[in-house]
Amino acid sequence: MLLAACIPSERKGAPPPQVRAQTERPAAPDAATLQCFADLRREEIGFRPLPDRKFENGCTALGAVQLLELGTPVTNLGAMTCPSARQFARWVREAVQPAASAWLGGRVIRIESFGSYACRPLNGQAGERLSEHGRANAVDISAFVIAGGRRVTVLDGWNGGDQDARRFLRAVHAAACRRFAIVLGPDANAFHRDHLHFDMGRGPYCR
Ligand SMILES: [Zn+2]
Repeated sequence: MLLAACIPSERKGAPPPQVRAQTERPAAPDAATLQCFADLRREEIGFRPLPDRKFENGCTALGAVQLLELGTPVTNLGAMTCPSARQFARWVREAVQPAASAWLGGRVIRIESFGSYACRPLNGQAGERLSEHGRANAVDISAFVIAGGRRVTVLDGWNGGDQDARRFLRAVHAAACRRFAIVLGPDANAFHRDHLHFDMGRGPYCR
């Protein structure tokens, strides 16, 4: 109220153009982002929109959200572009839980991730182009904890001795390929021996 009292009456309401130009207003989300927010709300996925950010080195987090509640706790999730968050939440609900019931006989009570946004080159190798993680457009999944405490990791489970764990991991990998543009796992290369990488970059690529 104090501030408002200091503003001359002609400045109330729509400010004159020169004032507007000086104000660093955050850009309004574009139509696709607004549609994505609406999809998340309709699917009852808890999230918080994040302000657009541009970092040095070309890294960005534009139209990004922080996922808060998707029915299954997920560790280490940071900024995710809304489309990648939407596909990720659908993957958890439509693929991970049914696959866990089918192959592991229980619910996944926690999904462990290596994170989403990270400003780094492809595979963390200097000189490579920017990873989709640098655009908040990717997420890395490392393990699943099943009710009762059993933990299935990509590192030990993908080629491990437990047939059911192998089937579970391959089922969730295949399901991710139907939802993301690019999916990489242990069969892709050694960089992915311990996690499944999902992104919404230019695909399709599923390995
Ligand atoms: Zn990754």
